[in-house]
Amino acid sequence: MNLPLLPSYISKENIGPWHIFLQQVEQVAPLLDKSLQPWVETLRRPKRSLIVDVPIRLDNGEIVHFEGYRVHHNTSRGPGKGGVRFHQDVTLSEVMALSGWMTIKNAVVNVPFGGAKGGIRVDPRLLSQSELERLTRRYTSEISSMIGPDKDIPAPDMNTNAQVMAWMMDTYSMGEGRTVTGVVTGKPLSLGGSLGRQDATGRGVFVTAREAASKMNLPIAGARVAIQGFGNVGEATARMFVQAGARVVAIQDVSGTVVNAAGLDLAALKRYQLENRTLSGAPDCELVANEDFWSVPCEFMVPAALESQINRFNADRITARIVVEGANGPTTPEADSILAERGIVVVPDVIANAGGVTVSYFEWVQDFSNFFWSEEEINARLERIMSDAFNAIWQMSQARSMPLRSAAFVIGCSRVLEARAIRGLYP
Ligand code: NAD
Repeated sequence: MNLPLLPSYISKENIGPWHIFLQQVEQVAPLLDKSLQPWVETLRRPKRSLIVDVPIRLDNGEIVHFEGYRVHHNTSRGPGKGGVRFHQDVTLSEVMALSGWMTIKNAVVNVPFGGAKGGIRVDPRLLSQSELERLTRRYTSEISSMIGPDKDIPAPDMNTNAQVMAWMMDTYSMGEGRTVTGVVTGKPLSLGGSLGRQDATGRGVFVTAREAASKMNLPIAGARVAIQGFGNVGEATARMFVQAGARVVAIQDVSGTVVNAAGLDLAALKRYQLENRTLSGAPDCELVANEDFWSVPCEFMVPAALESQINRFNADRITARIVVEGANGPTTPEADSILAERGIVVVPDVIANAGGVTVSYFEWVQDFSNFFWSEEEINARLERIMSDAFNAIWQMSQARSMPLRSAAFVIGCSRVLEARAIRGLYP
């Protein structure tokens, strides 16, 4: 039969992060078991994508419209799970890619979720707190047909936090006529949030960095670390490295790049960033050009901001021995090849930043059972899941001589496609 080969939203031109996700799937497809080959196409097609109009009234009475998205990439292994991003550059392509990476990530750490993601194309810095609340509530209402505690469970991502999750939970609960805590994770503790969730992604980034370093006989104590992004993920990762005796020598956020070869004072820097909304002018460090961030001498580099930050223009300048992907999709496939040729190990996003969704899974379980665990219990379980998953990936990468990203994708894709195959086709 003469079927169209590509869905309408895929063109030969670069279509952004989704194109990168497809390239990553293409690379591992031939490495998957023969029995799974007929199902690979599933990964190239998000299950469902919703674009919504989000109109809100500004404080000055004006009505403005924003575009919002929610995508279920794959739900073969369980309900959709993935964050909500508020950013002026969010596109459907980006949300599709982020949902695809969630599918792989959830399978890699073996939590019983599929992959989903959402976002609004908005610069939240331009909104007041009450405008942000109206935006969040209207968006939640518009995507309410797609979410639910056993359907799809959103969580925080860039520029969203526990407060935004509380508004989402409240809005969904009003529609249901009862309190549904399990509809989102990353909530405040007082609303069924989990201890340890705030730092979970950064903790996971650190655990995978430590495991990789130990395989490579690279000590953490005394090591130099460069981190892009000083938000939820970047800040917690930086703190964990310093607690283990490393020095954070460079930090870049949206406002600029600061360096100090003797080690930055993280607490002072965070205080300064919160008070001034910029790193520029922070004490005890030097402000350098953003481009110089990539060549800072270091052993670990942690991109923890946006996609495609490590690319063919800067990959040959990176000095680190290990790149640990705190962000989703921070390295382009071209940069991956350059780093591999230069012997730089990349711990891929689908394992490195999986700590957040792992503790989100704990939160969801705690909400269902209304029984809450101690922080020690949560951190210990997180450590075990992250280090076991990392070690399985490392072993496969050694045994089959493939980069860690390919090994992680082989493990993740196989789990997803096995579930898909055994479920069979409906109808
Ligand atoms: P955040 O909003 O808390 O922080 C983002 C940081 O990135 C800020 O410091 C911001 O200034 C910086 N940034 C933004 N644009 C930048 C630019 N152009 N150049 C340099 N820095 C820039 O977001 P977050 O939750 O820390 O998320 C960061 C990344 O981690 C994203 O890719 C996200 O998808 C991923 N991630 C987050 C979680 C989580 O639990 N929050 C979990 C897994 C993955």
